[in-house]
Amino acid sequence: MIQLKQIKKSFGRHQVLKGIDLQVEKGQVVAILGPSGSGKTTLLRCINFLERPSDGEIEIGGITVQCKRPSKSDIHTLRKQSAMVFQQYNLFRHKTALENVMEGLVVVQKIPKEEARERSIALLKKVGLENKLDAYPSQLSGGQQQRVGIARALALNPKVILLDEPTSSLDPELVGEVLSVIRKIAKEGITMIIVTHEMAFAQDVASHIIFMDDGVVVEQGSPVELFNSPKEERTRQFLKRYT
Ligand code: ADP
Repeated sequence: MIQLKQIKKSFGRHQVLKGIDLQVEKGQVVAILGPSGSGKTTLLRCINFLERPSDGEIEIGGITVQCKRPSKSDIHTLRKQSAMVFQQYNLFRHKTALENVMEGLVVVQKIPKEEARERSIALLKKVGLENKLDAYPSQLSGGQQQRVGIARALALNPKVILLDEPTSSLDPELVGEVLSVIRKIAKEGITMIIVTHEMAFAQDVASHIIFMDDGVVVEQGSPVELFNSPKEERTRQFLKRYT
């Protein structure tokens, strides 16, 4: 479903990703863990070319892109395979919740407005916001804004949803509502890659865990393998700080 081969990324002389290989099967929920600065967000952003990898190959749902020499149309097609949920929500401030979800359907996918509206309402219902269709982001809590962000990602019907620390901007009392929405969509079999610091959540929801440090995948495995019997010292040290 998704295959990354030797993904590298440098900012100037700083090599942030040092050759990442990753395979994700359909329906898998993959959590990426690791210390701050280890390259987790950069990796996620490379998957849909928000950052252009310096080298390597990305394959999603049958579309393969050679990162060194991608054509514009390759990038365009690859981007459509995934949808991103951002740490800071990234909603349009001057659009309502409903308009935020509809935007991609109408503008990018050229779906007729009435159909886009119906689909968007159903998705906002799914994330528990049927009463907030006409609210602007400033009238919503952080948790509600992030749930709009999740509905917007789902609306694009992507092969994979990429979530970049989806709860890290939230007040602690709002984290639970967002995690429970993510848990619910994970149960529906949607493929997801989540960068998170929520260890209990990762352990509970992920089918596969990746531990990154200093631009490499140090260790990966099932939640049980990684949390109960980590093989690498770096993984053990990291987990010790959280558990
Ligand atoms: P993580 O998500 O694991 O905290 P990041 O991927 O955000 O790590 O960052 C990894 C490293 O890349 C950090 O040292 C960060 O400063 C650097 N970095 C990230 N984005 C940029 C950028 N746009 N320009 C320069 N350096 C960046």
